[in-house]
Amino acid sequence: MSSEQTAVTLDKLIALCKRRGFVYQSAEIYGGLNGVYDFGPLGTLLKQNIKNAWTSSVRGFGDVVMFDGALLGPQAVWEASGHVQNFHDPMVDCLNCKKRYRADDIDLNKSCPACGVKKWTDIRQFNMMFKTQLGASSESTSIAYLRPETAQSIFINFKNVLATSRVSIPFGIAQIGKAFRNEITPKQFLFRMREFEQMEIEWFCKGETTSHFFDAWKEARINFFYGLGISKNKVRLRPHAKDELAHYSTACVDVEYEFPFGWKELEGIAHRGNFDLTQHSQHSGKDLSVFDDETKQAYLPHVVECSVGVDRLFLTLLFDSYAEDIVEGETRVVLKLAPALAPIKAAFFPLTKKQNDQMEAIFKNIRAKTGLELQFDLSGSIGKRYRRQDEIGTPLCFTYDFDSDNDHCVTVRNRDTTEQKRIAFDSIESYLLDTLKASAAR
Ligand code: ATP
Repeated sequence: MSSEQTAVTLDKLIALCKRRGFVYQSAEIYGGLNGVYDFGPLGTLLKQNIKNAWTSSVRGFGDVVMFDGALLGPQAVWEASGHVQNFHDPMVDCLNCKKRYRADDIDLNKSCPACGVKKWTDIRQFNMMFKTQLGASSESTSIAYLRPETAQSIFINFKNVLATSRVSIPFGIAQIGKAFRNEITPKQFLFRMREFEQMEIEWFCKGETTSHFFDAWKEARINFFYGLGISKNKVRLRPHAKDELAHYSTACVDVEYEFPFGWKELEGIAHRGNFDLTQHSQHSGKDLSVFDDETKQAYLPHVVECSVGVDRLFLTLLFDSYAEDIVEGETRVVLKLAPALAPIKAAFFPLTKKQNDQMEAIFKNIRAKTGLELQFDLSGSIGKRYRRQDEIGTPLCFTYDFDSDNDHCVTVRNRDTTEQKRIAFDSIESYLLDTLKASAAR
């Protein structure tokens, strides 16, 4: 096998995602909905594996409970959080061709990249929340917003969780769920979407320990990405400059990934102080403080937040694992995903139709015993079947051939090395489980 690599492009990934059922443009048959995507069978599996890996990583940090909040929130929540006043991007239009841009995305001293004319509107602030109305009343109390981040539902339920779970400060509340932002210019596929999913952990702690936990979370989070197998030279931590900090944060560090379109944020790690609980205490009139048994005083806990997009991480993993190399004179596309993330863990092939029944019996038995996502494939040459699995990242392929009836062995072929060896029928299950376990320990 040659290790020759060809540069990955967004277009190649989009084509692969569509061809193999990872991601489709939403409402495609009606012309598509900009910035919104649907996940097909393989994409759903990959997403689930990402979420599982994230959940076990944050739960490994300390006491962490899970949460699943509502998508709709009343106006009062978003006023308290500062989103009604502050959650906007600067927008500018070209007066000639009417194309709209995020003002910080382009150089307004130059002409419009679309039509070449320099005739800009003034910069206006555009609030990115999706506003809606509950019921038939048009009063302001019935205004609701689709959440632009999952975090606020955690803050407003902080006291509920504390009262009903066996946790005490310091502890975390973690949530995976949809968020909605009316991005002015959704772009780069899953990188900037209007409907996306976030994985957020809010770590509640005493004020004097926040810096310690901020550092500990930075380390834990970068290690999480290394553990997923992402190239170490392509992830970095970038502290925010003071003038970059969001309205709520005291300090912030981005985990960045080097995409083909530059170093971009993958995850935000923020020291939020007690901004959120203070705001919600004041706006709701409810006491959200905690009593400290040592000092005998009530205080509002501080928060360290780690927030990463499922979809943005999905895209990162595709970029990072995509390779093209030459195998037996043919170019193959391969996703070198960590086996724990791979949507399909192994594929089972009979060499010809004559071995179909024997291999199908083995396949069904292993699937029933392990509960893993496995595929059985009998169509096309073995080479074609390997290629089909390589480009969706399947780590192992087992083939039942002409010798198998006699030696009770199959050939196992490794996705990354393309090496093959023979193993006995009764060691297929342990071979597979060991491969997956080894990847989980990376
Ligand atoms: P950006 O500067 O890229 O817009 P942000 O600073 O607004 O990101 P946060 O509010 O910190 O992002 O959101 C946390 C995480 O949620 C981001 O690091 C990213 O992974 C994800 N995310 C944010 N906006 C989007 C989006 N429009 N599409 C997909 N993922 C997103």
